[in-house]
Amino acid sequence: MTNSAEFNWFGSPDHYVQGKNILLNSADILRPYGKKFLLLADKSVYAAAGQKFQEYLTHNQFTVDYVEFNGESSLTEIERVTKIAQEKGSDVIIGLGGGKTLDTSKGIANKLNIANIICPSAASCDASCIKLSIIYTENHEFVKYLFYAHHPVLIMADTQVIAQAPTRTLLAGIGDAFSTYYEGLEVAKSHGHTLAGGHPTDAGLAVAKQCADTLWKYAYQALEAAEHNTVTHALEKVIEANILLSGLGAEGAGLAAAHSIYDGFSVLKGDPAKFRHGEEVALGVMIQLMLVGTPQKELDKFIEFLLTCGFPLTKKDFHLDQVSQEDLEAFAEKATDKGETIENMSFKVTPAMILEALAGADAAVTHYKKTHTVHPVFVDNVFEKQVGMLV
Ligand SMILES: [Zn+2]
Repeated sequence: MTNSAEFNWFGSPDHYVQGKNILLNSADILRPYGKKFLLLADKSVYAAAGQKFQEYLTHNQFTVDYVEFNGESSLTEIERVTKIAQEKGSDVIIGLGGGKTLDTSKGIANKLNIANIICPSAASCDASCIKLSIIYTENHEFVKYLFYAHHPVLIMADTQVIAQAPTRTLLAGIGDAFSTYYEGLEVAKSHGHTLAGGHPTDAGLAVAKQCADTLWKYAYQALEAAEHNTVTHALEKVIEANILLSGLGAEGAGLAAAHSIYDGFSVLKGDPAKFRHGEEVALGVMIQLMLVGTPQKELDKFIEFLLTCGFPLTKKDFHLDQVSQEDLEAFAEKATDKGETIENMSFKVTPAMILEALAGADAAVTHYKKTHTVHPVFVDNVFEKQVGMLV
């Protein structure tokens, strides 16, 4: 019998709907899914968008029980809210918020085998469309990935809500989405495995390619729009890239070295461990480009793009210059650990190669900065202070 992972897979949510003020115009979209909703959101997202959404739904004859998210995507939190949903007899779980809220809502819906509707409050990562949750302990330490048989049934991306989120969340989402095509290319070359369940499809790679094209075209304009909390065509395009195209692309085309670099960060303590997922993935893209031997001219285009967006990109930016050699080696070991997506690269990558590529990327970016004038679109003057608050 052939193992199912040896087939080519592609998956997606049933529907993705995006637009300005969609939450407050969603009654007809939501009616087919049920009548009794459990709305999971943290306090600040509830105050910013959730309460109005609840009132709107109640006004439209839905029953909505709001549960305040405790802040961590943990098994305990999934258990706690699952019990509440059972008591209330909810037939739909709506997650409204960032990645952790959304991942928790997926866990609850899958436990109860009921519909899950996802409403991202920021375009900070591609978690919405992917059928897995990242699980942490109550103390915020990574535990495991929980894989599900089903995707959320519906994603509703309200661009008006997302435009109000801090610009740094959009930047992080761009980093996460930007890696998708370049990782997918390596998976295609190696005929590796994807999160969808088996080998990649052309559909997955086509979506990933569109994701990269959109970002090259619109990322700067979208960041400017986010700075002014305004919904423009460019911001709409980048929100779709960060949430939909990146999610379907990552799942259907697969991940490679860039996401393993993110996992490498998980063994570091202190400041270097406190950057956002997409910021670390963007550094991962640089390291992957070094690993595959990207020619200078092409490499410069990537550096220009990432620096102009406003990404931290040197060892110093990530405070890796303050990390001991021993810890750097542990970082490289983790990134090349068994089961890491770096195994999808078209050649074997060793910890020593990671450290050389990191040093090479650092030198290339530093040289670029010395020889070019860069005007980052997103400048966070209190970046140093914010690190740790926004993770
Ligand atoms: Zn990611």
